[in-house]
Amino acid sequence: MFEEVHHRPCGRPTKAGTPCRAQFSGPGFACKLHTTDHEKALVEAYRTGLETGRKQEREWQQRAEASQVEHLERQIRTLRDELDAQNRRFEVDGDQAVTVDGYGYRWRGPGTLEVGDRVLLPENYVSALRHGPGPFPGTVTELGTTYTGTLSTIISRAVPPQTR
Ligand SMILES: [Zn+2]
Repeated sequence: MFEEVHHRPCGRPTKAGTPCRAQFSGPGFACKLHTTDHEKALVEAYRTGLETGRKQEREWQQRAEASQVEHLERQIRTLRDELDAQNRRFEVDGDQAVTVDGYGYRWRGPGTLEVGDRVLLPENYVSALRHGPGPFPGTVTELGTTYTGTLSTIISRAVPPQTR
């Protein structure tokens, strides 16, 4: 139909009968003077279509990138879980290892702790700032710990609140 070219001669017959020498660029059929209304409409439709196509292409590209990011995030989560599983210790020198509110501890007993059990923890510098001196309460949030350093020992199970 028409091509997108730069500085293409019009070539349509002028009133004098000679080919029009006017040049035109971009999508079109002829110079401005010799383009019919119908042709103008076609060019307009072409431009609109092109714009829509480009917009669509950008959207598809963004969507593809978003799904790639999701894929990477899934991979990272899987790797982290695998690492976690490899590093997790459930026992330290015969003591049970648990995670209390995000921190690793060991438990000498009696019995074994379960997730949700309330315990008393030895004072540390953070607890001293938050709760004042002395033991402070915590909740077992995970069995085992991925912490590789030295673990503090849980003092005891927390005394359940007095029932009336
Ligand atoms: Zn012309």
